[in-house]
Amino acid sequence: MQAIQGIHHITAFASDPQANADFYHSVLGQRLVKTTINFDDPGTYHLYYGDKVGSPGTIMTFFPWQNAARGRRGNGEVAAVGYIIRPNSLSYWQERLKQHGVVVGETQQRFGETALSFQDPDGMTLELVATDDPATIAFWNDGSIPEEMSIRGFHGATLWVESAAATANILTEQLGYTHDQTDGARSRYRGASADVGVTLDLLERSNQPRGRMGAGSVHHIAFRTVDDAEQEAYRQKLSAAGMMVTPVQDRQYFHSIYFREPNGVLFEVATDAPGFAYDEPVESLGQSLKLPDWYEPRRALIESGLARLVYPGTDKVIS
Ligand code: ZN
Repeated sequence: MQAIQGIHHITAFASDPQANADFYHSVLGQRLVKTTINFDDPGTYHLYYGDKVGSPGTIMTFFPWQNAARGRRGNGEVAAVGYIIRPNSLSYWQERLKQHGVVVGETQQRFGETALSFQDPDGMTLELVATDDPATIAFWNDGSIPEEMSIRGFHGATLWVESAAATANILTEQLGYTHDQTDGARSRYRGASADVGVTLDLLERSNQPRGRMGAGSVHHIAFRTVDDAEQEAYRQKLSAAGMMVTPVQDRQYFHSIYFREPNGVLFEVATDAPGFAYDEPVESLGQSLKLPDWYEPRRALIESGLARLVYPGTDKVIS
């Protein structure tokens, strides 16, 4: 059983699905790689964005609830999601985001890297972290952003926690993360990979309120395992450590187990396989509504309950 390599995907709540798709696909240049439904709530879309094929470490996913109230950031949640960009593309992104009406703050220096912070249409905090670290992705050639300027997958995520020690213990003792650096209240941990989605920052905020879930809130963060056997080994190890781990859930494109770590952040351990080309070719990923077999008989009813969604940048309604 190898140490966790890093982040597999991050899942958040949004409000308007079209605004969400337009922002992530067209503004950030993250390909809409899967249009499906929330398997636990089939009246809601589940939209996935990533590199050309939706490689683990690049996948940001959303449950958009039309007219959902915004969440409130607080302890016990992932409070910021970081993407890798190359240092020479910082000014490109500052300009691009401004042109799309995104308010861009001052850059911040963090552990020797420059981070540009802004919010998505639902107020979720995103960061573009300028680094020369390796970031192997399947670049999506048909997007609107040149490769040298493009987002290179996840840099990492920042968790707001009441007390960092218990979460740090899960990361290092159960998941194989190593402590990297600490600067004040922020401690950085690294997964075993030297590539995408490696860092996890714990920001300790003692005596601060917990978050309230809503649009713009991260629902959970998923970590990578290679296959079902390794995932089962993690399920047993985490259970033995006192975590309440769910049975394996079939998420069609990966298999998942979930548990809530001691500060209340929902963690998932997901398999790399089978991936997003499981039910449609890479060339047309995301362009039609995909349902798992067990929902296919109810397709007409499900489609009638979903908001109209146009494939970003086109006039083609997704169905
Ligand atoms: Zn997930």
